[in-house]
Amino acid sequence: MSGATAFFYTDSMLKYYFGPEHPFQPIRYKKIFDTLTEIGAFGPSLVHIEPGPSTRDELRLVHTDTYIDRIEEICKLGTGYLDGGDTPITESLFEGALAVTGGTVACVDAVAKGEYQHAMTPAGGMHHAMPERGSGFCVFNDTAIAGRLAQKRYGIKRIAIIDIDAHHGDGTQEVFYNEQVLTISFHRYGQYFYPRTGAKEEIGKGKGKGYNLNVPLPGGTQDDVYLKAYDRVVRAALDAYRPDIVIHQFGADAHFGDCIADLGLTTKAYERIAETTHDMVHKYGQGKYVVTGGGGYNIDAVRRAWAIATCAVSGAYPYDPEALHHLQDSLINQKANCNREEVGEVVDYLMSEVLPLIR
Ligand SMILES: [Zn+2]
Ligand SMILES: [Zn+2]
Repeated sequence: MSGATAFFYTDSMLKYYFGPEHPFQPIRYKKIFDTLTEIGAFGPSLVHIEPGPSTRDELRLVHTDTYIDRIEEICKLGTGYLDGGDTPITESLFEGALAVTGGTVACVDAVAKGEYQHAMTPAGGMHHAMPERGSGFCVFNDTAIAGRLAQKRYGIKRIAIIDIDAHHGDGTQEVFYNEQVLTISFHRYGQYFYPRTGAKEEIGKGKGKGYNLNVPLPGGTQDDVYLKAYDRVVRAALDAYRPDIVIHQFGADAHFGDCIADLGLTTKAYERIAETTHDMVHKYGQGKYVVTGGGGYNIDAVRRAWAIATCAVSGAYPYDPEALHHLQDSLINQKANCNREEVGEVVDYLMSEVLPLIR
């Protein structure tokens, strides 16, 4: 049994913009919203709400005043870079970042108050932002803010954050590394692959030891290997941890059509990931489930993966699913998948060495 799902989207999120040549194009947020509208997904089980911007107090749950001030100042100037050369500053970026973070905050508020059972926003998932540093297209870490908000505003103790973006959720890991907040990240991993962290041995420190699970994946990983690992690790970890709320960073840049990460997922995998996780949140925490966006640089793939996932979570299925799963998404999976053993060893390590540490 599933209660209604809130879908938080506003056109102000499109101000989270780095310029026309940048791979990150916020128009995908609107395309997801438009696709859901076109297929008739909005109704009693999926409700669209326009969120407001986040407040400074909400940003301060994770970020320092010095950092927030600096971002506000440099966005007024409208030139320069955030950190390194990949995250340029534009005039609308600060306002866009508040709108994006506001969407995630609204999701947490909606499920924590019990107004909606699940809440989703196509934006957010800015998991690379650190308390005093932004990078990797991420200004404010709304994923970590969501966790802190659940703790501080609502007194929720058992918080699980699952990150399926193709890149390691390094900022989120950093924020909760010494705490008993369960953080799980599935990501491409390799010597030169951004942000270079996310090895399986990074398991948390002090009180947080055993509460940080990384599933590093080799390039080319496809549906069958990924889903087997996801199913085993997420089910076992949530069974051990018994979360009161699950926050899901649902980046879609592990799709085979995405040019950045070289992972090989199809939209079928995104549907299964949504179904598996949705199934687990109904087992724990009365179904309190927040789903945010993340990376995704093939706009058509993100649009389809997200529309499908939204329907899977909300139970709104007014469409012919095959129309959103393209034929090529079904065929790709028939290719050989060569890294079965490598990923299997990671999963075995987490199951035998790390999960037993969870209390
Ligand atoms: Zn449900
Ligand atoms: Zn990513």
